[in-house]
Amino acid sequence: MDTKSRNLLDCGKTDLEELCVSLGQPRFRGAQLMQWLYRGADFDEMTNIPEKLRETLKESYVSGRLGIRRKLTSSDGTVKYLFGLGDGNYVESVMMKYKYGYSACISTQAGCKMGCSFCASTQAGFVRNLTSGEMLGQIITAARDSGVRVGHVVMMGIGEPLDNYENVIAFMKAAQSEEGLGISFRNMSLSTCGLADGIIRLAGEGIPVTLCISLHSPFDAQRSEMMPVNRKYPLDKLSDACNIYTLNTGRRITYEYALIDGVNDSDRHAAGLVSLLKGRSCHVNLIPVNKVAGTGYRKASDRRTEAFRQILEKGGINATVRRTLGQDIDAACGQLRREEHSKV
Ligand code: SF4
Repeated sequence: MDTKSRNLLDCGKTDLEELCVSLGQPRFRGAQLMQWLYRGADFDEMTNIPEKLRETLKESYVSGRLGIRRKLTSSDGTVKYLFGLGDGNYVESVMMKYKYGYSACISTQAGCKMGCSFCASTQAGFVRNLTSGEMLGQIITAARDSGVRVGHVVMMGIGEPLDNYENVIAFMKAAQSEEGLGISFRNMSLSTCGLADGIIRLAGEGIPVTLCISLHSPFDAQRSEMMPVNRKYPLDKLSDACNIYTLNTGRRITYEYALIDGVNDSDRHAAGLVSLLKGRSCHVNLIPVNKVAGTGYRKASDRRTEAFRQILEKGGINATVRRTLGQDIDAACGQLRREEHSKV
C-alpha cells in the first residue's frame, strides 16, 4: 500500500513508537497515538499530541476509522453497517446486542471466492483481502458510532477468514492485546466454509478462538454442490482437521447448519448429521436461513426445524436454534454490498 494512504491501524505499538521517533518525537507518543486510534479518533481530536505531529501524520496516513455509507437499525436493536474503504470498496459489519454484551460481526475480505450457492457475499465477486487494520476499523467505527464497548467478535461477515490467513491472525492478535481492544481469544469466533489446511494451521497458532464450521449438509455429494470447497476438502478431511483443532486447543467446535426448506431439512439429513458428529466435542447451531434474492432458497418451517433439532438431541448431539437478529434489515451478509455494487 502506498504510504500516502497507509492505515495506522495496521501498525502495532512498536511500529507507532518507531514512527514517532523517526518524526523527531519521544517514544511515548506511540502509546498516546495508539490509544486515540483504538477509540476511533481523527487526528484533530488527538489533543495530547502536538499539532505539528498531527499535521505531518495527516499528510501520509489515515487513522483507520471507516466511512459509514449506510446504516440500518433493526427493531431488535441490531445495527448493520455498510462501510466504505479507502479504495472505494465496501464491506458490511453487524453490531448485535446479547445478554452478555455487544458482539461485532465483521468482514474479512471484500467479496469472496468460495462460491457457496446460498450466499450473497460471493455473488458480487471477490475483490481483495482486507488488512488487519481494516478489520479493526470495522469494530472501532461501529463501537464509536453505537457508543458501546464490543466484548465479542465474530468473523462471519463477507469473506472466508482462512483465505486471508496472515491478516486475520494479525487482526486477532491486535484485537486481543491489552493495548488494542482487549477482547479475549475465547470471545472470538472464526467461521470457515471448511478450508481444512487452514484449520490445521490455525490449530498450531496457540490462539484458542471458537471455530465455527459452515456445514449445511452431512453428505459429500450435496455439500459439494452447495459449497464447492467440499470438492477439495471433503467431509473426512474436514473432520480430521476439526479433530486436530479440538485436540490442540481444547475447544468445542460449533457446526453451523442453515436449514433450507426441502433441500437439507429432512429426517435423513438429521440422521446423517448424527452419524457424522457422534462422539465429537461439538455444538450444532441450526439457522433458519435468511432469504437471499436469486437463490430460490426458503427457510424451513418452525415445525421442521424443531423436529430436526430433536433428532439431533436424541442422537446425543447438542443443538440449538439460533435466534435470528436483524430479520427486518436484510442481515444476511453480502446483501447491502451487492445492492451498492449494482448501483454503479
Ligand atoms: S458462506 Fe462464507 S465462504 Fe461461502 S461464499 Fe459466503 S462468505 Fe464465502
